Order: sequence, then structure tokens, then C-alpha cells
Amino acid sequence: MANESSVLAHQAGKIAAKLPGGNSLARSVELLVAWGRANSLWPLLYGTSCCAIEMMATGASRHDWARFGVEVARASARQADLIILAGTVVEKMAKNLITLYEQMPAPKYVIAMGSCTISGGPFYYDSYAVVKGADRIVPVDVHIPGCPPRPEALFYGIMQLQEKIKKEGREIPWEIGELVNSPFLDTFTATEKEWATLEEKKDQEMAEAREQFKRENPDYKPPRPIRLKKEKLPSPARRKPTAKGISNWSLLQTLQKKFPEITVHDHPDATPKQVAELGTDYDLDLVIPKELYREVVQYLKDEKELGLEMLLQLTCVDWKEYFDIVVHLLSVEGGHKVFLRCQVEKDEDGAEIETISDLYVGAEWHEREVYDMFGVRFTHHPDMRRIYLKNDFPGHPLCKDFEDPTRVIKRPY
Ligand code: SF4
Repeated sequence: MANESSVLAHQAGKIAAKLPGGNSLARSVELLVAWGRANSLWPLLYGTSCCAIEMMATGASRHDWARFGVEVARASARQADLIILAGTVVEKMAKNLITLYEQMPAPKYVIAMGSCTISGGPFYYDSYAVVKGADRIVPVDVHIPGCPPRPEALFYGIMQLQEKIKKEGREIPWEIGELVNSPFLDTFTATEKEWATLEEKKDQEMAEAREQFKRENPDYKPPRPIRLKKEKLPSPARRKPTAKGISNWSLLQTLQKKFPEITVHDHPDATPKQVAELGTDYDLDLVIPKELYREVVQYLKDEKELGLEMLLQLTCVDWKEYFDIVVHLLSVEGGHKVFLRCQVEKDEDGAEIETISDLYVGAEWHEREVYDMFGVRFTHHPDMRRIYLKNDFPGHPLCKDFEDPTRVIKRPY
């Protein structure tokens, strides 16, 4: 609609320009419209990571972007004419961001806030999921560098955009900018070289300055540094940690009575007595054969005496030859915890193991994450599909052998 009104204003301006004094009138109206547009920006609510906190601070009472005419942040793209990209843009979100941009009525503007949005920031190297610059997917009007930029920097960016909008009219009409589809640049190597040259120059200048000082002050003796004596402070009284819940050795004993195949990680022949000697700080870390995995987890959950009713984490480690599925359980009441690790052999399609999502509801998402990142399938899982990455993402990025030169730039050191 706004686009149509721009066309109408353009046509009206053309007609008015033919009348005596009409050109001045049309230009005045244009200036008025541009001034109004620049000072009544309606930003879309869009913040994806830490930069968004700074953006929120910019809108809050201390800084208050309403003073700059940027007000009424909208929850709908159809009511917004500015999108401030505050935070990391990931590939999965890229499509939705383009949709939001397309839904905004024209004339519309984009501010890229922070280094993540501008270039991928700290995720430029070794990242399989971060878009290396928002201007690859939507046209950006203003870039605000920083990690994160302060509210003052965002204000400056907004003011730059306002200056740009105020110049728009018949002679400089609003138009959708170009996408910057530049190839990946290895900025690190270039900057490293530049800095090395500067450092060399600085060292040389310093050496020359030192020589000159020595020539001009032959009797100069540098003052001896005064060394402060280290204060002797009394050591604070430490409380001995009290063991809560079931002790490691007792838990191991109970488990080994039912499942003698279970061993302790890194201490395969350890007896419960030897585990007791490892102290209360030791986290019990057990190795479970794959065929007993589900049965052991079920036992730990159902056995009232053990009370391991909470799943803290389920994750995976890729050891190249095989995967370890790692489960971390906690007894909320007793406070004792246990790690379980289960070795899963790799097959052509990744690896496969039984689900425990029916035992611990939280495992459902953890297992989907492990599938997404490592390609381990959990049989009888109710919804075995990717959770973070796009459905057509090639491969599983946390596997040791994952390579994708089209999206991952290797860190040069
Ligand atoms: S630029 Fe820095 S502050 Fe902003 S989203 Fe990235 S990491 Fe966070």
C-alpha cells in the first residue's frame, strides 16, 4: 500500500510540477513526507541473541528511542517499516527472515546491528549454521559494528538511516537495495598480516626511541621497582563436603548386583571399595553394554531406593570409530548423580540405539538433538527428525568427519 501511495505522490508531484510554483509546492510536500517518514519509524520486534539486549535497552526508559521517533515496536511485519537485525542469523531462520522482509510494506529499511549480523562475527569460522552476513539474504541500509554495539551506536545508526530517508523524493526514490553476495573472505589472514606489519614498525620505532634516549641521557638509571611483600592472610576455614544421598560405592554395588557387566569408566576393574577411595568429589561414571542400556536406565528410574528420577542430560561423543551415548541422571531428593556411557558402533547411516524418551520425557528433545548433530537414530522414538537444522542439511555437523567447504570456513590457526 505504501508503495502505491509513493507512486501516487510521485504522479501528483509530476502534475503539480507543471503548474506555476508547483515545483516548489511538490518539493515542500516531498520534504514533509520524507521528514514524517524518517521520524516515525516502526521497527519490527526482531532480536535473536545478545545484541537484542542492547536493542531492548535502547528502547527502555534510560535511552528511550521514542525520543528519536522510533517507536511502537510492532509484532507484525505488516505494521513495520524497519527491521533491526539484532543478533546472529542462522541458516534455518534465513528463510523466515526473508518472508518477514517481504511481508513488510514498502518503503522499508533494514539495520544490521552487531558483528554477528554483519559478518557472522565470532561464528565466521568453523560454523555450519550461521549466515555470514545478513546482507546476503536481505538488503541492508545501515551496518552498526560492535559486539554488541551500545545503545548510543544504535542511535547513531538510526540517525544515519533517518538522514538517508530524508533525502528520498522524486529525484532519489526509495528502492530495494542490492544483495551483497560476495564470496567468503578470509579477513583473518589479511588482518593478521596487516597487524604483523604494524607491530614490526612499532617495534622498530620503539628501538630507535630507546637508542635516542640513551644517547641523550647517558647517565640515566632507571628507578628500581619497589616490590611489595606478599601479605600473609589466614586461610579461610573450609567445611568438609558432606556426602548427600547414596554414595558412589553403594550405588555401584547395587547396580553390579543386578548387572555384573557394568564397569567404571577409566577404572574397569574397580570394586565398590576402590570407588569409595576415590572420594566424594568423584563423579560416578559407568560403562554400560549397549544391549543393557535401556534396561539399566529403566532400573535406575524405577528403583525407589535409588530415586534417580531426573534426566539432566543426554548427549553423544564421537570417538571416530564409535559413538558414546552419555546419560546424566540425578536424584532430586538425595542429590546423588550418575553418568552412564554406552558405546554404539557406527554403521553406514550413522548408528542406532533404543530410545529412553518413554522413560524420561526430557530425553525426547535430547535424542533429537543427538540425531541432528551426530546422526545417531533412536529406535521407537516418537518423532525422530531434525530439531535445529534445516531438513535438507547435508550431514551431521558435530561428527568428526563432517566437512562442508561451501558453508564452513576453517579457522586458520
Ligand atoms: S555481535 Fe556479539 S553481542 Fe551481538 S549477537 Fe553477536 S556475539 Fe552477541
